[in-house]
Amino acid sequence: MLKVEQLTKTYQSGSRPLTVLNRVSFDIDPGTTCAIVGPSGSGKTTLLGLCAGLDQATSGEVYLKGHALQQLDEERLAVIRNRHIGFIFQSFQLIPTLTALENVMVPVELRGVAYDDVAGEAERLLGEVGLAGRMHHYPAQLSGGEQQRVGIARAFIHKPDILFADEPTGNLDSETGEQIEDILFDLNAKEGTTLVIVTHDPDLAARCDRVIRLKGGEIASDTGASQYGTSTGETLESSTKSTVTS
Ligand code: ADP
Ligand code: MG
Repeated sequence: MLKVEQLTKTYQSGSRPLTVLNRVSFDIDPGTTCAIVGPSGSGKTTLLGLCAGLDQATSGEVYLKGHALQQLDEERLAVIRNRHIGFIFQSFQLIPTLTALENVMVPVELRGVAYDDVAGEAERLLGEVGLAGRMHHYPAQLSGGEQQRVGIARAFIHKPDILFADEPTGNLDSETGEQIEDILFDLNAKEGTTLVIVTHDPDLAARCDRVIRLKGGEIASDTGASQYGTSTGETLESSTKSTVTS
């Protein structure tokens, strides 16, 4: 599903380069759930953005369903993102002037699908995340947990194969956070969506099939690393796939 090969990201900070991701490699199987953990500043958000095609690496490659993301121009990348990738932000990132329903429809409307076709599915998803009674509320009229539910419905509207979530429960109280987690894992179970979740929450990480720990821009540990050791940066073909267990 996702294959990250020797991924490096270096920022030019002042006169000297700052490497925030250093030759990171791993592979994620379809339908699995993976947590990315690590101290603040270890490169988690940077890694997620690169995997989702939101950012350009300094070197290395990200293969998403076989597409080499680094090779694509912005237009083709947008198509891949819109077809295969969902993204959930810690800060929700809803459009304030649109209702919950309209926010959920945005990714599909960008594709030019007719309103009526999309609206039904958006309503269904909002119902599924427990917002049947809030479809016509604006973000400012919703609680944080409710806004994140809208964010989840929006991320699922185009049935992504893989969903990236950057600390999706980070701005929520623990009870609300747990409900959000349940929704995510439920959608993983029902729709088979691969989940990659950055989190500081050990309980959330423990619910995932696999935990990759970053430290200083490198993989410090990986519970799903194969016996051949993808985390050392060696590239493998299919051998990781068959040896990952949970
Ligand atoms: P995490 O999500 O694990 O907290 P980030 O991926 O956000 O870490 O950031 C990793 C490091 O990269 C941090 O030290 C941060 O300061 C640095 N960084 C992130 N974005 C930029 C940028 N645009 N320019 C320079 N440095 C950046
Ligand atoms: Mg971060």
